Amino acid sequence: MRLIILDRDGVINVDSDDYIKSPDEFVPIPGSLEAIAKLTQAGWRVVVATNQSGIARGYYDLAMLQRIHDKLHRLLGAYGGEIEAIFFCPHGPDDGCDCRKPKPGLFHEIEARLQMSLQGVPAVGDSLRDLQAARAVGAKPLLVRTGKGESTLAKGEGLEGIPVFADLQAAVEELLGGALC
Ligand SMILES: [Mg+2]
Ligand SMILES: [Zn+2]
Repeated sequence: MRLIILDRDGVINVDSDDYIKSPDEFVPIPGSLEAIAKLTQAGWRVVVATNQSGIARGYYDLAMLQRIHDKLHRLLGAYGGEIEAIFFCPHGPDDGCDCRKPKPGLFHEIEARLQMSLQGVPAVGDSLRDLQAARAVGAKPLLVRTGKGESTLAKGEGLEGIPVFADLQAAVEELLGGALC
């Protein structure tokens, strides 16, 4: 069984500089839920690794984050898709934690929980920090242009050898076509 790791904001749902603070603010990027459902139906395990510093900043609490994720699971379920687990960092940039990407802590948690190495596992993100965290554990970073993707590309830093896709749907089509990994 193949595994894929997805960032959340800017990959699955529309990102916002004001943070995603409620289920109403969680709006899927067109095609992203269908893409995850395709992965599920092709037998892939899908997990999410997401920085949620809005918790440390006091913009929402864990119960609200759960409600937001309940919405994600519910919307995705309607397409027949499944996200097995959502790993999140609730800390702020100054908390010195090991899990806020670009630190690889969330990826280590995934390895521990799933009892497997992430070597070569595709990890889709829209920010440089997603790609750096993936690379730190030997996963295969993929960049999408949605969310902060265009500005990540424009900065051009740390992107050597990283495939770029219009969006999650395009990345998944490539993965399921077997052209990558
Ligand atoms: Mg993101
Ligand atoms: Zn953290």
